[in-house]
Amino acid sequence: MGCCGFRDRIEKYVEEFRKSGRAPKCPKCGKVLEPAVVYFGEPLPATALAEAFTLARTCNVMVVVGTSLAVYPAALVSLEAHRSGAKLYIVNLSPTPLDHLATAVTYTKAGKTLPRVVEHVKKLTNMG
Ligand SMILES: [Zn+2]
Repeated sequence: MGCCGFRDRIEKYVEEFRKSGRAPKCPKCGKVLEPAVVYFGEPLPATALAEAFTLARTCNVMVVVGTSLAVYPAALVSLEAHRSGAKLYIVNLSPTPLDHLATAVTYTKAGKTLPRVVEHVKKLTNMG
């Protein structure tokens, strides 16, 4: 989640790394810069997770892409959407534990299928 919350564009730090060969330091806290991503095993930010659950309870359709849905608590967001009446569309390379709850499941690479899924969802929700 980043060392101290410091955010910036990555380009200049990549350039710095290319020149020096050393991991760039954070200008704010001095520690080695970390990308603002959630690593496997790290907790998700509480506010983002709370927002995800709120959206899950109120959405009509949830398109779930590129996840095994085996990792909690993120998988619970999809389950919450289903319990709240949303249609689930799952796109993943392999089966997931929530496939039986989904309106449609596609086992393929997301990049190939996603445009077709979006078109389908648009028709269903009269957005297209
Ligand atoms: Zn920092």
